[in-house]
Amino acid sequence: MSSEKPRLIWTTTLMFSLTSLIALIGVPCYAWRFGLDTSIVLASFLLLAATGMSITAGYHRLWAHRSYEAHALVRIFLMIFGSMAVQNSILIWASGHRTHHRHVDDHDRDPYSARRGFWFSHIGWMLREYPSGQPCFDNARDLLDDQLVMFQHRHYLSLVLLTNFAIPALIGWFFGHMLESLLLCGFLRLVLSHHFTFFINSLAHTLGQQPYTDENTACDNAFFALLTWGEGYHNYHHLFQWDYRNAIHWWQYDPTKWLIYALSCLRLTYNLRRVPDFSIRRAQLNMLFKRTEQRLAEAQGHALETLKQRLSSEYEHFVHAMNEWGKLKEEWYAKTKADLLNSWESSTYHDRFREIELRLELMQRRLQNLHAQLV
Ligand SMILES: [Zn+2]
Ligand SMILES: [Zn+2]
Repeated sequence: MSSEKPRLIWTTTLMFSLTSLIALIGVPCYAWRFGLDTSIVLASFLLLAATGMSITAGYHRLWAHRSYEAHALVRIFLMIFGSMAVQNSILIWASGHRTHHRHVDDHDRDPYSARRGFWFSHIGWMLREYPSGQPCFDNARDLLDDQLVMFQHRHYLSLVLLTNFAIPALIGWFFGHMLESLLLCGFLRLVLSHHFTFFINSLAHTLGQQPYTDENTACDNAFFALLTWGEGYHNYHHLFQWDYRNAIHWWQYDPTKWLIYALSCLRLTYNLRRVPDFSIRRAQLNMLFKRTEQRLAEAQGHALETLKQRLSSEYEHFVHAMNEWGKLKEEWYAKTKADLLNSWESSTYHDRFREIELRLELMQRRLQNLHAQLV
């Protein structure tokens, strides 16, 4: 195998370097010399949110994963502000991201594999012509048929230049601070938006918890969710990529989910896909069993036998509940298919499903206690 590095992509490298230099040097110098205008600061934050969430709600959850559908007005908005984020066209981004999910962590096939190091997964993968990063649209036939996606792909450069210069210039003209707007709404906003998104490929595959799966490097991290418009719950996302949510609890920070949900109340987004609570609980319990078993194997002490017995009895109950659930679901499907369910029966089924879910919830608490005893 050749040890030579692939060719450097000069345009991308220069774009990242120059925008970073201008943001890091230009903004502090300007602020020190002239001070900052509150309206421009506020406008740059709003633009940061619009471009960031056009990537998370648009490029990622809408186009890459098809986790919901959206009205044309929403799609046009997401396409325009997604172009302003300068992260390549929807077609290239979404296709690469689908490859990332399919071959996650694979050295040669994941375009931004975290196993190739922090720098590579954060930004390095875009700077050279790595074979793993070459676009291939076999996994994006739906996007090739999407007129809006293809329009953006064909006119990508014009859209990038237009949005990144015209919008900050318009804001600057309106508030009478042209240079400040170009620096803050243009360069600083772009650099922050870049790195906040890149954290999802680097940090969210490096630091955090893995409550749903340990079969890849993706982690849940509440702090990174703050920087990534809710995409920090990446462990959940890698197991349940079709869910329009990344954070499943109301108290977890996922503004992208809130935006998609709020738009659905206005009928601007629809067919929001959610993973059933039962599947989520099953994944969490599987991980808890796995972790507790590992801890028990490493632990020492006189009460170990009792704990092992408790774990194996819980596992029996778990398998039993899974079988019960499977049978109930089959029965329910057969009845709904034959249209035999009346409203009374339907509510009885609902109660029986809920009863199994409650048993699993209690089991999860008992297992968490048992796991905590082994720390
Ligand atoms: Zn990932
Ligand atoms: Zn994804």
